[in-house]
Amino acid sequence: MSTSEGFVPFTGVVAVDGPSGSGKSTVSRRLAAALGARYLDTGAMYRAVTLAVLRAGVDPSDTDGVLSVLYGVDLQMGTDPAQPGVRLNGESVDRQIRTEQVTGAVSAVSSVPGVRTVMIAQQRAIAATGGIVIEGRDITTVVAPDADVRVLLTASAAARAARRGGETGTNARRAAARDASPRDELDSRTSSFLSAADEGVLVLDSNRAGHRRGRRPVGACRPCGGVRPGVQVKVEAEGAGLEHPRFVAAVRTVGRRALLPGYLRLRVAGDENVPAEGGLLLAANHTSFLDGPVLFGVSPRPVTFLIKAEMFDGVIGWALRQLGQVPVKRGTPDRTALLTALNALHSGQVVGIFPEGSRGRQGGGFAEFERGIAWLALRSGAPVVPVAIAGAEQAWPRDAKLPKPRRPVTVYFGAPLRPVDAPAAATRKRVAAVSDTIRQALIEHLERAQEIQGQ
Ligand code: C5P
Repeated sequence: MSTSEGFVPFTGVVAVDGPSGSGKSTVSRRLAAALGARYLDTGAMYRAVTLAVLRAGVDPSDTDGVLSVLYGVDLQMGTDPAQPGVRLNGESVDRQIRTEQVTGAVSAVSSVPGVRTVMIAQQRAIAATGGIVIEGRDITTVVAPDADVRVLLTASAAARAARRGGETGTNARRAAARDASPRDELDSRTSSFLSAADEGVLVLDSNRAGHRRGRRPVGACRPCGGVRPGVQVKVEAEGAGLEHPRFVAAVRTVGRRALLPGYLRLRVAGDENVPAEGGLLLAANHTSFLDGPVLFGVSPRPVTFLIKAEMFDGVIGWALRQLGQVPVKRGTPDRTALLTALNALHSGQVVGIFPEGSRGRQGGGFAEFERGIAWLALRSGAPVVPVAIAGAEQAWPRDAKLPKPRRPVTVYFGAPLRPVDAPAAATRKRVAAVSDTIRQALIEHLERAQEIQGQ
């Protein structure tokens, strides 16, 4: 779309990677301003999380501690290239994220897989809206490998050291020279900008006029920490679910075609409400041990469930792991499980949760509804399909060793709820509101499932 002045706004994505002190921030901001585009400094995101970790008194190498801090972080990234402010839990922290303490700790924090998962997911969501220049370490390779323009910016070691000195405002070059290389070395273990040596990435030296498009920017990479160009470091959270899709498909087919209909009088309604693709949450009520296997079998798409950790024992535990299911510790917000689920959602999978846990057995009206699903819905931006299962408790009562044959069980998939259109901060207020909406929908759908069952 062109404006009356004939200016055509840039709607694509420019990805800029490079080591510390390569001048990528200056170049990226100027470029964004010239293009009339937005600008995102991904390093500032990792720095802000690091600041939160340090403020919480958590050791940056304590993975669980870092994740628990991350869980409470509300990050707002300004994308105006003239003034890209960073707000941490509402507070402006532009200066605080550039201190030596933060610079010294950021590599440890950014190497925590759960941190990267969340950051990358948010960066991808921002990139998806286009009209942006994004700079970092893994933008050309991981965050936006399909960007319209991908640039690896480099500079001589001396130039980079000088720049970092100016940036931190410390006793200039010597300190900067000491810092830059080890940090890049550490960073290169987790973020994969050096694999920008792939074909198609433009390699620019910010101190030289020329540039080249190359397979192997040898000169460019030497100062970046000595990692071989072309080596892609895989970034993923622990067990992102569905690792054995064929096994999952086979088990589902046997369950759906033979076991379930052979044993139960099974009815499925509303399955057209399940979107055919994209990250999706299923929120189901839970009264019986049958709920999980039934839903696993009848869902139109394979599901990764968050299942209480106690179940991951012996043969059942082994099978659950093969089926890509995720153990979740009850009674505390289990960050690893939540981040694994978030990662699965971002990679387009279906995550299933029984938000009331098995406590729903007591017949309680979803009073124990947990907040994890609301958190996931907000942080992922994925829709939530409420699933009501009626009759499972009668088909497999708590005290029975096996399910009772030929009992009716009805599964009703409700219309998808879309709490947010894009990933959003999971503030307490929003989490409460979203879990309320889901709970309400689930109560209504259970009535509907019971009606269908009675027909
Ligand atoms: O670019 P800057 O030096 O501000 O980045 C700070 C740190 O954030 C890096 O040293 C690195 O540990 C981390 N980072 C990252 N991935 C990115 C951007 C930055 O891991 N895309």
